[in-house]
Amino acid sequence: VSVRISLIGRPQFDIDAFLSFLLEGQMDWHRSPGATAPEEIVEVAGRICYMSFGSKQSPRSNTGYIRNLIKQGHESVLEHVSWTFLLAGVSRAFTHQLVRHRAGFSFSQLSQQYHEETEATFVQPAHLAKSHRALQAWQEAMVKSQESYRVILDSLNELNGSPGMDLQQKEFKRAIRSAARSVLPNATETTIVVTANARALRHFFGIRGSIPGDVEMREIAGALFGLVEGEAPSLFPDFSLERLADGTPVLKHLPLTE
Ligand SMILES: Cc1cc2nc3c(=O)[nH]c(=O)nc-3n(C[C@H](O)[C@H](O)[C@H](O)COP(=O)(O)OP(=O)(O)OC[C@H]3O[C@@H](n4cnc5c(N)ncnc54)[C@H](O)[C@@H]3O)c2cc1C
Repeated sequence: VSVRISLIGRPQFDIDAFLSFLLEGQMDWHRSPGATAPEEIVEVAGRICYMSFGSKQSPRSNTGYIRNLIKQGHESVLEHVSWTFLLAGVSRAFTHQLVRHRAGFSFSQLSQQYHEETEATFVQPAHLAKSHRALQAWQEAMVKSQESYRVILDSLNELNGSPGMDLQQKEFKRAIRSAARSVLPNATETTIVVTANARALRHFFGIRGSIPGDVEMREIAGALFGLVEGEAPSLFPDFSLERLADGTPVLKHLPLTE
């Protein structure tokens, strides 16, 4: 299977609502041409802290303003914008690491209790194909685990209604799928919807985007970065997407000094 990553939700800035707020206070705001909705939301949230509109507005552009927020460590302002992604064809090993991120992330993942995994596919880890013996062992393990899954499901299904298994249909299915899924490997493909705010994403990119031995994580972090960087470059001026010698992506973080 190949990984599929889509951006399915993005922030909107209601400029009319904000301009009426400014008008009420007899303030004006010099907008930076070309700034995107998330970039303007962050700038506005930052300016509200100091009411730096009208005569109090410095000549800084939106990009310069946000750069300064990041440099000063005033990153809570970046929490006002979030994006929603759909990730498919990723491994459960990867999502187990992803869902450890508690602050500023929300997740909705395919359930192995509601969804039958008899036809599940598996995500082949990078480097496995470098050894024929390793690849063969992995493929055999995948086939075996899928066979075992089906045998467990079929065998328990036959016990439907017997003592201890006389559950309502929905709970019976949950029970037998729970038993069967226990033999599925970390490589099992999954689908997950992820919402994360810009600050949380920056933290994620910083700690997850450059681990040499974790190719799946780097590839997904790199793809997510590419998406949000295109949407709001001013929020990620200290990150760049580069390639390792093998062509896989790596995120470089260079903390802002000026
Ligand atoms: C190279 C690497 C190796 C790892 N190895 C292991 C491992 O062997 N075993 C393992 O269990 N995990 C491991 N992890 C996972 C790691 O410990 C974190 O659980 C995961 O990376 C999420 O990071 P986080 O807590 O910084 O992120 P988030 O949960 O998103 O939190 C973001 C930030 O918010 C703050 N924060 C969040 N919650 C709290 C809190 N309760 N109290 C105070 N501050 C808080 C912290 O500043 C935190 O950095 C590893 C991660 C990496 C990158």
